[in-house]
Amino acid sequence: MHEVGMMQNVLATAVERAKHEGASHIRLLQMRVGEASGVVPESLQLAFDVVKKETIAEDARFQVESVPVVCYCPNCTTEFHPTDLLYECPECHQPYCEVRQGKEFELAFLEVS
Ligand SMILES: [Zn+2]
Repeated sequence: MHEVGMMQNVLATAVERAKHEGASHIRLLQMRVGEASGVVPESLQLAFDVVKKETIAEDARFQVESVPVVCYCPNCTTEFHPTDLLYECPECHQPYCEVRQGKEFELAFLEVS
C-alpha cells in the first residue's frame, strides 16, 4: 500500500511544522486530495492510523477534503468536470484536456497544542 509511504511524508512535514510552532501534540490533520490524484481517501485514513503510532500525532483526528477535477479545453476554452479518464471536452470532443484542478495531495490544515 503506497499510501503508507505518502502519509509518512505528510506526517513528517506536519510534525516538523508542529515542533516549529513549539507544539507537542497534533490534534487535527486535514488534507486536500484531488479526485485525480489516484489516492483513495479511505486508504489514507488507514495509512494514517499506521504511521501516527508513537508520534505526536497519535491522538490526532484525520480529515480529507476532496477536490473535484476541473479540466480546461484549450481548443474551445471550456472548463468542465470530466466524466471519464480521457478528459475529453464535452463541447468539441478534444481528448486529453489540461487538468486544472484535482491532482492535489497536500496538507491543508493542522491543529496543534
Ligand atoms: Zn473543447
